[in-house]
Amino acid sequence: MSLGHLVKGGDFVCSCHRWCSFRQVCVEARMKLKKQVTVCGAAIFCVAVFSLYLMLDRVQHDPTRHQNGGNFPRDCQFALGGQGQKPDLQVLTVSEELPFDNVDGGVWKQGFDISYSPHDWDAEDLQVFVVPHSHNDPGWIKTFDKYYTEQTQHILNSMVAKLQEDPRRRFLWAEVSFFAKWWDNINAQKRAAVRRLVGNGQLEIATGGWVMPDEANSHYFALIDQLIEGHQWLEKNLGATPRSGWAVDPFGHSSTMPYLLRRANLTSMLIQRVHYAIKKHFAATHSLEFMWRQTWDSDSSTDIFCHMMPFYSYDVPHTCGPDPKICCQFDFKRLPGGRINCPWKVPPRAITEANVAERAALLLDQYRKKSRLFRSNVVLVPLGDDFRYDKPQEWDAQFFNYQRLFDFLNSKADFHVQAQFGTLSDYFDALYKRTGVEPGARPPGFPVLSGDFFSYADREDHYWTGYYTSRPFYKSLDRVLEAHLRGAEILYSLAVAHARRSGRVSQYPLSNFILLTEARRTLGLFQHHDAITGTAKEAVVVDYGVRLLRSLVSLKQVIINAAHYLVLGDKETYHFDPEAPFLQMDDTRLNHDALPERTVLQLDSSPRYVVLFNALEQERLSVVSLLVSSPWVRVLSEEGQPLAVQISAHWSSATEMVPDVYQVSVLVRLPALGLTVLQLQQGLDGHRSLPSSVRVYLHGRQLSVSKHEAFPVRVIDSGTTDFALSNRYMQVWFSGLTGLLKSIRRVDEEQEQRVDMEFFTYGTRTSKDKSGAYLFLPDGEAKPYVPKDPPVLRVTEGPFFSEVVAYYEHIHQVVRLYNLPGVEGLSLDVSSLVDIRDYVNKELALRLRTDIDSQGTFFTDLNGFQVQPRRYLKKLPLQANFYPMPVMAYIQDTKNRLTLHTAQALGVSSLGDGQLEVILDRRLMQDDNRGLGQGLKDNKRTCNRFRLLLERRTVVSEVQDGRSTSYPSLLSHLTSMYLNTPALALPVAKRQIPGPGLRSFRPLASPLPCDFHLLNLRTLQAEDDALPSAETALLLHRKGFDCGLEAKNLGFNCTTSQGKVALGSLFHGLDVGFLQPTSLTLLYPLAPPSNSTDIYLEPMEIATFRLRLG
Ligand SMILES: [Zn+2]
Repeated sequence: MSLGHLVKGGDFVCSCHRWCSFRQVCVEARMKLKKQVTVCGAAIFCVAVFSLYLMLDRVQHDPTRHQNGGNFPRDCQFALGGQGQKPDLQVLTVSEELPFDNVDGGVWKQGFDISYSPHDWDAEDLQVFVVPHSHNDPGWIKTFDKYYTEQTQHILNSMVAKLQEDPRRRFLWAEVSFFAKWWDNINAQKRAAVRRLVGNGQLEIATGGWVMPDEANSHYFALIDQLIEGHQWLEKNLGATPRSGWAVDPFGHSSTMPYLLRRANLTSMLIQRVHYAIKKHFAATHSLEFMWRQTWDSDSSTDIFCHMMPFYSYDVPHTCGPDPKICCQFDFKRLPGGRINCPWKVPPRAITEANVAERAALLLDQYRKKSRLFRSNVVLVPLGDDFRYDKPQEWDAQFFNYQRLFDFLNSKADFHVQAQFGTLSDYFDALYKRTGVEPGARPPGFPVLSGDFFSYADREDHYWTGYYTSRPFYKSLDRVLEAHLRGAEILYSLAVAHARRSGRVSQYPLSNFILLTEARRTLGLFQHHDAITGTAKEAVVVDYGVRLLRSLVSLKQVIINAAHYLVLGDKETYHFDPEAPFLQMDDTRLNHDALPERTVLQLDSSPRYVVLFNALEQERLSVVSLLVSSPWVRVLSEEGQPLAVQISAHWSSATEMVPDVYQVSVLVRLPALGLTVLQLQQGLDGHRSLPSSVRVYLHGRQLSVSKHEAFPVRVIDSGTTDFALSNRYMQVWFSGLTGLLKSIRRVDEEQEQRVDMEFFTYGTRTSKDKSGAYLFLPDGEAKPYVPKDPPVLRVTEGPFFSEVVAYYEHIHQVVRLYNLPGVEGLSLDVSSLVDIRDYVNKELALRLRTDIDSQGTFFTDLNGFQVQPRRYLKKLPLQANFYPMPVMAYIQDTKNRLTLHTAQALGVSSLGDGQLEVILDRRLMQDDNRGLGQGLKDNKRTCNRFRLLLERRTVVSEVQDGRSTSYPSLLSHLTSMYLNTPALALPVAKRQIPGPGLRSFRPLASPLPCDFHLLNLRTLQAEDDALPSAETALLLHRKGFDCGLEAKNLGFNCTTSQGKVALGSLFHGLDVGFLQPTSLTLLYPLAPPSNSTDIYLEPMEIATFRLRLG
């Protein structure tokens, strides 16, 4: 979008709700067993806990578990960092030092006067590259398809014609999604012409991603995936390999992008939407072009050359030079008589013999002024705007008039200028040549920069921090789709490899590859900077939503089909019947904007089987909850061992149970990336079936509460005594009045840590500019949320988990504590079901207040890939201090760190010491003047999910001595993975009678090291687009982590390995037939195929391998 012209103007009780530590309980249980105490209540509870204890013994005695021994110390060195050279520029430091005074700069309103001497170029000519471009949003005001039909196809069609008319013409394109759609609709002759234009350098595809992604809310899985999809498409269809990045419209820039582009072998990149004050400062210090380096990088291996556009916008008035009134006169689409004009009231004039001298001089003055902001004598002048060049006349107007100007300028030797059309890479190549370096290398004297460019303001106090939360429903659905895509990719790749190896590939539904491709493209499309951002028109949001849901359903099918094959014990019996799927979905969504409804298992006399899929690359001990039709249920393991189960009611509201639906929760150990089978039977197993107990606090409200013979329910009409839930690690206190979290006390500590949870609301200003889809313009500080009625609280306690649900008018807040060792038991599971459809211009925030001495510093992640320290800056307005939170935010002091993990991108801040605050949803009745033309009024019931982790610092280091980097602990990384990758429960369809023929599937011979993440195992396309090739892309990420926070005995079943992984023996039952390291998107081999399958990765690095499994 461009608005340059606007510058003008579930549930149990155990007898005690404060549990003794786990081991104590178990010892007690054992003793009681010895004494053969079989009295009801207590004994049932004890048997369950005892069997749980036996299950967990493995964890306790697993020799690989001791993370404090082995390789940990060496792997811990990385986070201490500091050995590398410091960059010249740290964006965080720059922001702390800048006054942000917004002084009027004259014609360049947000800048300053630029002066030069005409002799400045006597020694070296000024080289000008005018880059024609058209910014095509894959959905914003119109849907993707409507834009394509009405505008984009015409742009691309006339491009082919108009570029061929003159070999000096150039054009830049970025969005492969549109290009691919157009490609499917053009003939072979036109395709050949396009390939020629790419081959001879007239047409450049920049970045080459499926879209130009949002960089705030997007997760790095999706960022990489859409880049792979685009690059693979380009290689196959055009033979093109992108060299330069082009991001003119994303609303702020993340430092994850330069890393990804660098690893995809791009050498240069361009960014545009950066805070005007930073632009001004960088312009004044000749720092608009820099080597962008990752904060963790100790040498220069992540450096990529970056050009920051200096002015307000990427439209023509703001790209030729500092004065938009002049530059607008050189946008020949705005010639008088056309549909658009220049808001500065001076129209363009067609270039003629008579006026060329005067016009050229005027334009050269702008070029020269712009050039003075940069270190080289090469100047970049983008020439385009949104959906430009859709008519032949526009091509002619721009190309003819500019060519006349260039011819004149170039004919005057004393002007010392060479002006021409160019692509972005033409510009960068000329700059490298002029500065005497290889493409992508650091030109002498150019600065090195680290950091990111959030948050963005385009003018005044207009901070684009609202879109971090806008339309949270779809931000959540995005991540659900992402987790399903990753799971489906991995399972499909493994199923096809196993089917090939056993000669049954012809029976396998290989055509599921089409569903995968569609889903990749849907997720890719949604990363667009008007999609995941929540900044498109309502009808476009619906279009995205329908696509997301369709792909989600497709991915569930892919997962089901792969799981069917892999879980069959006897593959001879495998038969794929598309009409009768072997497995059912775990849930269904009635509509794209509906929350999922979980599948209810109908139980009768015959057994039901359920296949569980764990998409984590680590073995996982988790509670899996299923909905069943009877409270009398037995659950057996695959080996036929009865499992202890927690039975709870299924509630439709605070006080009403859903009749005939019950929640059964079992504790299961799930293999890494594997499948497990459970068997359910109707029947009573009094020893292992453990009902939850329920207390309902009515706070004086006259409500009737459902009762059920299977669950003890206690109703407390009034009373506000605080209460606690406990597990082996902690005691968690809640307010009896609000039902919200108050404090956490670790079992081995006297002192409790205050963690006060409260809701707040923000209003918007009454005059002038108001908050909208992009902007957050609050009317002051947040006010406490005041509900109409006191909340009804429902406290459920059981052996595997206990929870508190607080029912407010606009929020149902659930805080759940799992009572099991390891990752699940160490954090609090928090979910907020938000519904603010009756709000008028209000935003709802969740605030945590603690005694952590955070000293104005907080930490937020970038794309789930890295953590960026933030400073609360008092000199800036409140809204400037909000940042994107795709996966986590934390505050810390020398003793503690509190991390809020999230399953959806939301805006976050720390507005006071010891605080963390997240905006849950926003309802805004008006447009905020950034082109959308709508408010945000299509709010949905949205479930925001979190994990809250309180960690103790064991190694006191210089935690916040102005360090530019910070890392989550391994526990925090795993907590985030658990939250974002829930286990899927796929019931075997009722009519299928599999008998004992189902077997667990354990694809990994050994778990991956704790710090490795298998980002994807992505089957590559065959020559035939609809079919899979025999090769897959394996993407591995080695995480950086902070060891100073680890408590002992976390119950991990993995260790670290100093970055080494033996891929050859990683996959159980499959051989690695071919292994080649490649660039991130597989366009460049990095080494010849190797016989060795042992690989090594530096911390924080992501590596791609072309892999053949069989
Ligand atoms: Zn855009």
